[in-house]
Amino acid sequence: MDVIDLRSDTITKPTGEMRRAMAEAEVGDDVFGEDPSINRLQERAAELMGKEAGLLTASGTMGNLVAVLTHTQRGDEIVMGDQAHIFWNESAGVSALAGAQSRLVPNGFQGKIDPVELKAAIRPPGNIHFPPTSLVCLENTHNRCSGGVLTPQDTKEIADIAHAAGAKVHLDGARIFNAAVSLEVPASELAKDVDDVSFCLSKALSCPVGSVLCGSREFIDDALRWRKMVGGGMRQAGILAAAGLVALDSMVDRLADDHANAQRLAQGLANIQGLDVDPESIQTNIVIFDVDHELGPSANLIAALDRQGVKVSSPGPYSIRMVTHRHITGADVDEALGRVSTAVKELR
Ligand SMILES: *Cc1c(COP(=O)(O)O)cnc(C)c1O
Repeated sequence: MDVIDLRSDTITKPTGEMRRAMAEAEVGDDVFGEDPSINRLQERAAELMGKEAGLLTASGTMGNLVAVLTHTQRGDEIVMGDQAHIFWNESAGVSALAGAQSRLVPNGFQGKIDPVELKAAIRPPGNIHFPPTSLVCLENTHNRCSGGVLTPQDTKEIADIAHAAGAKVHLDGARIFNAAVSLEVPASELAKDVDDVSFCLSKALSCPVGSVLCGSREFIDDALRWRKMVGGGMRQAGILAAAGLVALDSMVDRLADDHANAQRLAQGLANIQGLDVDPESIQTNIVIFDVDHELGPSANLIAALDRQGVKVSSPGPYSIRMVTHRHITGADVDEALGRVSTAVKELR
């Protein structure tokens, strides 16, 4: 039985074209700024994000951390959604390494942040009891909010409030191209009102390694030193950048297929008794759904699915997450739905 792996789009492997580009990549020492492939990737990424400059990082986690280190000082407060990847999944780097405190506001439907909640969370200046709010972090698409998308208007509304209070705005755009494809707008529209944006090459875009942080020339010049400090000066990493350039040229438009498959998956799951998902709320490639308590904790269904050869992940005790990606076809989705049905019956 073939395993159907829906744990994450990070499992996607580099294409043949990427491997050829990697083998032939022109390289140099990037710590001297002399890797032509990295320089080309950074310029191309900046152009796509509508920013002045870009910086290759080893991972999305490193991109987020470097952005926070660049924008904040020890003792500052960062406002972000209570489901933010930076808060949940980055080993508390912003507190341990940047020395910043995280202030959480609720992530609503599809990951949106209520402007009123944000305003209330920003500290008024001039009170020595309060840490200064120097940064607001947004996430698009929103990982723990089922791949929910922020529109350019959503982003502008939040950014305007932050900027009026003297705070910067960092966009964790790990899957920003999924948002762009879903909304049919250029990624630059989604990054227009934020100070910087980090996106991943290593998720649905199928690269083996890498993220790019983009912002103003001045921001990237500062970020370069922080990236060096956290060990991100990678020398002849043009071998990785070469795959990134292929990804930006050829892997973005096909994300629509992943979204169509996620929609097909959500519609099928909605028809299985005991599973709770609203297909209309699914905008990109992540499907998070609830399991009825009568079936027990989601760990039971996950174990049953594992026996059926379907791998998934669990964002909570009664929820399951499935992610579509380049290695999942429409036929795989149909096969997975059949196996989910079988696994649910086993639990009854
Ligand atoms: C995956 C992810 C990251 C981190 O990327 P890594 O390359 O795995 O470190 C950051 N933010 C979001 C929203 C993500 O989904």
